[in-house]
Amino acid sequence: MMNKIILRRGKEESLNRFHPWIFSGAIHHTEITPREGEAGSASLEEGDIVEVLASDGRFLAIGHWQIGSIAVRVLTFKRQPINQAFWQKRLAAALDVRCAIGVAEMENGKWSNGKYNDIFRLVHGEGDNLPGLVIDIYGSTAVMQAHSVGMHVCRMEIAEALKAVMGDSLKSIYYKSETTLPFKAQLGQENCFLYGETGDDIARENGLKFHIDWLKGQKTGFFVDQRDNRALVEHYAKGRRVLNMFCYTGGFSVYAMRGGAELVHSVDSSAKAIELVDANVEMNFPRDNRHEAFAEDAFKFMENSLFSDSLEPRRSFNERSTFHSSPKYDLIILDPPAFAKHKDALHNALRGYTKLNAKAFEMIQPGGILFTFSCSQAVNKDQFRTAVFTAAAMARRKVRILHQLHQPADHPINIYHPEGEYLKGLVLYVE
Ligand code: SAH
Repeated sequence: MMNKIILRRGKEESLNRFHPWIFSGAIHHTEITPREGEAGSASLEEGDIVEVLASDGRFLAIGHWQIGSIAVRVLTFKRQPINQAFWQKRLAAALDVRCAIGVAEMENGKWSNGKYNDIFRLVHGEGDNLPGLVIDIYGSTAVMQAHSVGMHVCRMEIAEALKAVMGDSLKSIYYKSETTLPFKAQLGQENCFLYGETGDDIARENGLKFHIDWLKGQKTGFFVDQRDNRALVEHYAKGRRVLNMFCYTGGFSVYAMRGGAELVHSVDSSAKAIELVDANVEMNFPRDNRHEAFAEDAFKFMENSLFSDSLEPRRSFNERSTFHSSPKYDLIILDPPAFAKHKDALHNALRGYTKLNAKAFEMIQPGGILFTFSCSQAVNKDQFRTAVFTAAAMARRKVRILHQLHQPADHPINIYHPEGEYLKGLVLYVE
């Protein structure tokens, strides 16, 4: 017998439209079946699987119960058991989508890694009808991340299902949920392998090779969501002097080099990231002196570049970047971390985007191209565009929008869950 959640009258509306969240305010009461051997007043535990019913008792959905304003994350709108077979079906459906969009390569009906592209997101939470779960594939390693206690409870079943769906080409599953599980749940979960162990850390994206640090790297180890946008940078890079701000592992830099950039500068405040950029550039373009990386704060770097534009000698700001002539960049990429993690940080975030973009507009050469991004879910497309518009006006540059960018197809947005849209970008031509 499954625990039941009965909604208040009229609160089933959003579920009839397949929205996958139930807010705590929509709940009328819960009916709890005591666990075996449990006496007295039983209660729901975070992560429990619950059945959701309308006020008239009609079945609506099954989902994971959690503490907080989102009380249930819906797994299915059908009455069916949530077991390994269920996960397997969902993961197989996710893999089908990745084959359809051409990011997962198949051989004799089985997934095969190690050719042109073996980096992709297999599961993107609600976008794959698996709220609270993210799975990224890097060559023969899958990195799995739970954002809900419910997914955490089911992790072994999901790992088994993943092995069955991906086949022999998958050699290990790393579970990286230490920082993504609700802090208050106090699960004390450490990152660990659920299957296999660290193997080859090199994977391929569009024929370019990358070291992926799933053990210590940010997110699941790589920013899979910029694949298509990196390819567009490659398209525009020929003969240009490129500045890749917030470069992390240097994805945009490596594509710019393949595109024939005259020079590429990569900047990130993390020294570890700069080590990874250098290693990735060296692996794809050995002994190519078009590239240089700087472990520096973005704002400082840009201010110093502007400063040296005025023909004064460039100051050295750390041991790495000692005096060098200041290049005139004509392709700049700004891909900062999320400035607004929550709605209440929105105002400051928008000011941050304006300030950052204004600096880029000040320094970019006439005829230059600016790729500018926001990955804050709390900032919508229009707000971001307004922030960039304000920046252009501040710098008094004439600017045209060439492309409007977003997250790629392996980060699908469930049409009933528009909250899943987070990455937005603009490609601008600056006179
Ligand atoms: N463009 C990258 C992803 C960027 S993630 C890619 O395609 O993979 C954001 C990066 O910004 C992180 O690597 C972080 O270390 C860096 N960062 C954060 N604050 C910074 C700052 N003030 N100056 C420079 N880099 C910063």
